[in-house]
Amino acid sequence: MFAKTALSPPEKHLPYFKFIKAVRPGTCPVCDRTTQAMGEWFDNLLDESANDRPLRKRLDEDSGLCADHTRRLCAMPDRDGLGAAVLFRRRLELALEALDRGKAPRLNTGRCAACDEESGAENRNLGLVADFLDDEGMRAAIVASGGLCLGHLAALMGRRKFLPAWFLDLHRERSAALHGTLVRYIDSYRLSTEERRAAQTEEDEVAWRSFAGHVHGPARRV
Ligand SMILES: [Zn+2]
Ligand SMILES: [Zn+2]
Repeated sequence: MFAKTALSPPEKHLPYFKFIKAVRPGTCPVCDRTTQAMGEWFDNLLDESANDRPLRKRLDEDSGLCADHTRRLCAMPDRDGLGAAVLFRRRLELALEALDRGKAPRLNTGRCAACDEESGAENRNLGLVADFLDDEGMRAAIVASGGLCLGHLAALMGRRKFLPAWFLDLHRERSAALHGTLVRYIDSYRLSTEERRAAQTEEDEVAWRSFAGHVHGPARRV
């Protein structure tokens, strides 16, 4: 069996087409697709957890979800709260049982089922980009998105030894553009307050706030 090379891309399948179709301008597509996959997973968790015995067992063994996923679940917009209320009722019943015995309630301070699901979705999406980077459709989608966040770019570079020039150029240019804006912003502080206000665009003033998204992608939501 031959190793996969740029000349022999794998066969395109449904996840590839879903990935290409879901790309949005200005958003890391790996972050975006992972967030969408987690939304579906949480919907399923909230709808089906009462019937999903292995998942219920896992949640009990882990003492529920981790802090990050619990907070994201509590911050879910536009969803019926019944499924979450059922999950949280179970956690509180176990906490009360422990307290009745004078014991500390058990909490999940490590990874949870959602963490594992999220890592899996992230890996699958990164794998798609890595496998199809020489494909025209994937190229067009990534260019349209504006590129990956630096965290996913770094992860991808750990997976693929050779990256096409267009891909490296896209990410270099994106980082250079933000760098240029920050330099301009910093330099403007040498001016008087009035001159600075005149020299800065609205975009310049908030550019530093985009750094977290540039490196780590948009804040994750359920
Ligand atoms: Zn990302
Ligand atoms: Zn978690």
